[in-house]
Amino acid sequence: MSTRKPFVGGNWKMNTDLNGAAELAAGVASAVGSDSGVEVACYVPFPYLVSAGQKLGSNVRLGAQDVWTQDNGAFTGEVSTDMLKDCGVTTVLTGHSERRHVIGESDELVGEKTRRALIAGLQAVLCIGETIEQREAGETDAVNERQIRAGLDGVSAEDLKNVVLAYEPVWAIGTGKTATPEDAQDAHKKIRALIGSMYDESAAGAIRIIYGGSMKPGNAPELMAMDDIDGGLIGGASLKADDFGAIIEAATSRV
Ligand code: PEP
Repeated sequence: MSTRKPFVGGNWKMNTDLNGAAELAAGVASAVGSDSGVEVACYVPFPYLVSAGQKLGSNVRLGAQDVWTQDNGAFTGEVSTDMLKDCGVTTVLTGHSERRHVIGESDELVGEKTRRALIAGLQAVLCIGETIEQREAGETDAVNERQIRAGLDGVSAEDLKNVVLAYEPVWAIGTGKTATPEDAQDAHKKIRALIGSMYDESAAGAIRIIYGGSMKPGNAPELMAMDDIDGGLIGGASLKADDFGAIIEAATSRV
């Protein structure tokens, strides 16, 4: 259907405990099995990266939910790219809506984090999306454009190959409300066109744009059937290995 490899990420947020994270990681590893043609990643809480990473095996990428912008040094509470790589992390989330809207990260800080991750050789999954107020004010496309331009500021065409864009309407995250496949497709298509104007047609055709916001086994197939939806970023449903496995299975329809 598309030459883009589908991508499914599980964002565990601030959930699980030491044993639960290892069990979930083992469950995901067995749900994924050998190469399904889908790129799969789990974004694990910092304290459990090493132990869960050991259980994820070689077919699931170990991901972190955040990263700091500077080298090791006097940044109390933060975690550097070197530390993440030391733990086996190969992919990080930047600009998740909870970091933007609950913690207060600016578009510029998200851009710095994205650049920093890419310079360190990590994959960056840059999350963008509008709030319900912005949607109702007709600002969805403008918000996506602003967040993408700031998030990719200074990112070269070469480094863009290591970026996945996650369109996550804030009103759909953790709420049980999902964008219709048509609305999500419309946003993804515009995002791809924007990448074409910022870089070129080949970059636009290659970049994975995944959808996030209450994706579940029941709605994943219809979302993944849309031309420009290359996978999903999954919160709640990634905490059950069976549900997450079913969503990965839905993504294999794009292989
Ligand atoms: C997320 O955390 O990125 C997310 C999409 O959460 P949920 O699937 O629970 O809406």
